[in-house]
Amino acid sequence: MAATDPLPSAAHTVQEFVHGYEEEHRLRGFQCRNCGLRTATWTLACPRCGTPDLEEATLSDRGTVVAFTVLTVPGDEFLNDAPYAYVVVELDGGGRVTGWMPSVKSDSDLAIGTRVRFSPSYKPGVQFVKEADSPPTE
Ligand SMILES: [Zn+2]
Repeated sequence: MAATDPLPSAAHTVQEFVHGYEEEHRLRGFQCRNCGLRTATWTLACPRCGTPDLEEATLSDRGTVVAFTVLTVPGDEFLNDAPYAYVVVELDGGGRVTGWMPSVKSDSDLAIGTRVRFSPSYKPGVQFVKEADSPPTE
């Protein structure tokens, strides 16, 4: 990307990432033209190969939990949700995002490798729910 090119329209922040879904029903992220790494939010250069040549990409709204912790002391916006899980999700096809999952009350309610899907929420951050708990779609 040349210095004079406008910045891509895709998400630069997690909040824009979620808003992109509300507006277009797709999660907008970026893909490195050099190595193919996908990211959910804008970076000046690819975190893997350092190339500043990123293009907009549509990310999957489904993925797999790769890390999580259960939070019992919530932030103000989540007072009624605690305990809940703070999760790192590897999206299908690439792109790793952090988010949260309601209804996870202890470590035994979730496991690494659990299939999840993005679920729009009025709460801040990126909400995921277990794929098995989702109503059928498509
Ligand atoms: Zn790269």
